[in-house]
Amino acid sequence: MYEVPTSLSPSRVESFINCPLAFRFSSIEKLPEPPTVPTTRGSLVHRALELLFHHPASERTPDNLELAVDAALTEYRVHPDYTQLGFNEADAAQFDVDCRELSRRYLEMEDPAAVTEVGVELWLEADLNGLQLRGIIDRLDRDESGDLIVVDYKTGRAPGPKYETKSLQGVHFYALLCEKVYGQRPKEVRLMYLKSAQQIAVTPTTQSLQHTTRRTLAVFEAVERACTTGNFAPKQSALCRSCSFQRWCPEFGGDPARAADEIPR
Ligand code: SF4
Repeated sequence: MYEVPTSLSPSRVESFINCPLAFRFSSIEKLPEPPTVPTTRGSLVHRALELLFHHPASERTPDNLELAVDAALTEYRVHPDYTQLGFNEADAAQFDVDCRELSRRYLEMEDPAAVTEVGVELWLEADLNGLQLRGIIDRLDRDESGDLIVVDYKTGRAPGPKYETKSLQGVHFYALLCEKVYGQRPKEVRLMYLKSAQQIAVTPTTQSLQHTTRRTLAVFEAVERACTTGNFAPKQSALCRSCSFQRWCPEFGGDPARAADEIPR
């Protein structure tokens, strides 16, 4: 009924688990979703930190971080993810301030001049029982012992203890991907929450990677089943509040079959 995807990324795995119908709209039908202020701000700050790491270690200074934010803002001002936000002058000024503030918070957590990175915005791809795993790692470092550290910048809030386990699932996916590509399990996956200048470090283990493998394959089987039967069940949660497909969701009186015709591409 629907073509089965041949690859999965951490965000797609979580998207299917969160709501199979929203997954169908975004990942199978590939219907566009309008940008939001938090997603565009997050992408822009990631870009600024990427640009900072284009400098040699000794030049990763606070001034160069400011220049990297300037460059990222210049790039984004003509990008649809920014222009479609429809900012007025005050909104645009606040957006700039928020981006700069988030970027500066990064420097409260580490000195980028002391980092030995293997790469930034690294695109990794590996086979898992015939399924392609794909993901982009914000940064991969090598520490003084030669161990790999996966670094993931987060521009949203750090999860409370109740949600921490759930929000770290994607992290183990990155560790699995890294182990498959580099033949070396990362010693740590470090999540850097820029807003609160807070870090969470996760140590991948044999058990956590086995669990991630089983979970990913189980999700893929469920995706295959849904594509074959056409049954992508909606799953209501707090995420419905920000779901851009709500108008076409049966849980809210909508008709999913009309989404492809009514959402402008
Ligand atoms: S509104 Fe909620 S249940 Fe409906 S598609 Fe979106 S996330 Fe799923």
